[in-house]
Amino acid sequence: MARVEIELVPLLQDNYAYLLLEPETGSSAVVDPGEAEPVLEALERRARRLDWILITHHHGDHVGGIGELKRRTGCKVVGPRSEFSRINGLDLTVAEGESVALGHAVAQVIETPGHTSGHIAYYFPENPALFAGDTLFALGCGRLFEDTPEAMWDSLSKLAALPPDTRVYCGHEYTLANARFALAIDPDNAKLVARARRIEELRERGEPTIPTTIGEELETNPFVRANSAAIRGQLGLREEPAAAVFAEVRRRKDNA
Ligand code: ZN
Ligand code: FE
Repeated sequence: MARVEIELVPLLQDNYAYLLLEPETGSSAVVDPGEAEPVLEALERRARRLDWILITHHHGDHVGGIGELKRRTGCKVVGPRSEFSRINGLDLTVAEGESVALGHAVAQVIETPGHTSGHIAYYFPENPALFAGDTLFALGCGRLFEDTPEAMWDSLSKLAALPPDTRVYCGHEYTLANARFALAIDPDNAKLVARARRIEELRERGEPTIPTTIGEELETNPFVRANSAAIRGQLGLREEPAAAVFAEVRRRKDNA
């Protein structure tokens, strides 16, 4: 198995698409192209064709570039089976436990319902790298539009169990606002305080805060840490199920 080379492609207001280049065969893919033009420019700069689009969920800011990219490059599109009827242009659908080959690189599909009911993430174990869409953000998680806190908690728990050195590539640059909220929920977390400072510096220079790692999120993300003594103590929820603590963190963020 091969690793993929990964390039961030900023687009729309605060979305990231990701260009994946497999060096052994020259295969390429783009994750969640919310619009086509920045992706076409990145391909041109790299002098690469486009073989695949990988889609995490049906929202317009993740699928908006599909039509034009298919017309201009002839690429094929993979996405979540249970959102088949909600995404135009899918050629192949995938579900939990299945994989997608990109040349000699392989992505495992992880179902992560919560933000949408059919949301999936793509995990490349050789890198290791995770394309988390709008499920797990740096210091945050997606809003619960189509599923329960229990479902989202299970999804986040699956992702949190990946190797700590897994690089996490998420759908949005929301990290600065997430850091401010995280500090309000988990103020005594020294690693979070230090990370928030680094994030402020990066954003002042206009640089991305992505990728993060699973290990960093385990230490500093208040949604992933909902079951920790620190967060439980801050919220006064010592006995409740972990999903209920998570639901309370999510509710506070929604109202922040
Ligand atoms: Zn979304
Ligand atoms: Fe999004």
